[in-house]
Amino acid sequence: MNGKSNTHDGGCYCGAVRYRIQGVPDFSAHCHCRSCQLALGGAFVTWAKIPAGNFSVTKGKIKICEKTPGIRRGFCGDCGTTLTYAADHVVEGQDWSKDAWFTAVTLDDPTIVSPQNHVFVSHKQPWITLPEGAPAFDTF
Ligand SMILES: [Zn+2]
Ligand SMILES: [Zn+2]
Repeated sequence: MNGKSNTHDGGCYCGAVRYRIQGVPDFSAHCHCRSCQLALGGAFVTWAKIPAGNFSVTKGKIKICEKTPGIRRGFCGDCGTTLTYAADHVVEGQDWSKDAWFTAVTLDDPTIVSPQNHVFVSHKQPWITLPEGAPAFDTF
């Protein structure tokens, strides 16, 4: 695999923060949890993940909001776009520190991810209707 051609860039709304990933995200999902709704100001958010070492900030600085200790939501301090999610602990068998989670739509080419799963649908707003047969999970 050619590492150089396998890079993808992304960034926030205003352009102050830019990032680069190596490779294509190995997982992505739509999260309907209440925390994501409030952090993003949207009904749900589409997260993608890549091994932590394959994510780097190439311009600007990601500002961190740590409302819940150990859970860090990263955003652009200028325009507010949510960019990253990180947790430094293991939750239900998932070691969050191994991966870099980021918002799929902030990629310059969001079509490189193919999210299917809807998670935390127990928090889903009643006016959001999922596609027939979409994989849906009450929690993660
Ligand atoms: Zn910005
Ligand atoms: Zn969430």
